[in-house]
Amino acid sequence: MSGGSESKYEMDTFSKAVHAGDRKKQKPFVPTTTPIYMSSTYSYDSIATIDRIFGHEEHGPSYVRYENPTNNALEEQITALENGAGALACASGMCALQTALIVSMLDRRRTILAASDLYGATISMLMKIFDPMGYEVRFVNITDLAAVEKAIADVKPGCLLMETVSNPILRVGAMDRIAELCKAAGTALIVDATFSTPLVVRPLELGAAMVVHSLTKYLAGHGDVLGGVVVADAENIEPLRAYSRMVGPVLGPQEAYLTMRGIKSFPVRMERQCANAIAVYEWLAKHPKVERVYFTGDPAHPDAETIARLFPKDRTGAIVSFEIKGAAVKEDVFRFIDALRMVVRGTTLGDVHSLVLYPLIASHRDLSAKQRERMGIRDNLVRLSVGIESPADIIADLQQALEAV
Ligand SMILES: *Cc1c(COP(=O)(O)O)cnc(C)c1O
Repeated sequence: MSGGSESKYEMDTFSKAVHAGDRKKQKPFVPTTTPIYMSSTYSYDSIATIDRIFGHEEHGPSYVRYENPTNNALEEQITALENGAGALACASGMCALQTALIVSMLDRRRTILAASDLYGATISMLMKIFDPMGYEVRFVNITDLAAVEKAIADVKPGCLLMETVSNPILRVGAMDRIAELCKAAGTALIVDATFSTPLVVRPLELGAAMVVHSLTKYLAGHGDVLGGVVVADAENIEPLRAYSRMVGPVLGPQEAYLTMRGIKSFPVRMERQCANAIAVYEWLAKHPKVERVYFTGDPAHPDAETIARLFPKDRTGAIVSFEIKGAAVKEDVFRFIDALRMVVRGTTLGDVHSLVLYPLIASHRDLSAKQRERMGIRDNLVRLSVGIESPADIIADLQQALEAV
């Protein structure tokens, strides 16, 4: 069957072109890293084996919408990091969020209680996709535990969606307490943990039903992948897989490979980024041209008590946002950003290199000045994703750029 030497006398050029060399059993060796499986379908020695695989009596890949060995390896890796029951790698972080939301409400009320302070595209997805589809969407201040408790009692949501750390002013909700409230109400807690990563906090261990990451950020980490993942608890993993087998929101195997490769060094990168962020925060906090610094490691952070309970000391994340003193108009902030020589101007976060973003023109562009003010996002606020470079070089770059304002 497979293109061995005996078949080359039986097949002509047309047949050889599609059979020779392919479908080799790889038994005597094990690749030390999982290769990129670009195969859409998997064949077996007999149709009886394929029958057992379709019947779930035997495990193995059959068709790429159901599973792919490269994705399986990545999913096993991230499941281990989150202490989950299983995972689904998706085509983007947004796709992972949409999948988690839909799956959580297949057998629950189609009501979403969401943190008011979510990633911009997530708010848009709730308002422009879930709301028109008939889901009821309500928002609550996730750092006000009494308000969350009241909203759960009033709304009886099928799911509650929150982020571990909000963007860009880095508020932290009491995820452990919220998980208890959700458990008691039969509400599925979905946590977008992109900003924190499993090195900082593991939401499933605190009672979340599903945790979502944009793999595009810290986990892949090198600015070369768009991807997302849902990691589920034991109750939600089978519904998640069943949904995926039908719809196929899955990540491509090339991206799965790059992500798995990235994750191998993610704890080392993240540990360094967290330490660099502390150094940058401490320097910025003393700088005369800096009005205010937002950082999860700030002892005076409004959610310091929650952070101390949920996050390890000195490992609270690697995003630092700050307001530039005297930057009265957009052009002043532009001058600072354009003066940066090493820190990269870009809209993402979590890469190996430091990145700066101006929320006013990016993530919060579509909001009115009044809405931004209500969210505490001032026009002189910039967000810095601290990279793995030398902290002295990051600080030197910020220093010379602040002089340009
Ligand atoms: C980037 C991001 C997303 C979306 O992820 P994509 O991979 O860009 O689709 C969702 N949530 C948060 C917190 C993010 O930072």
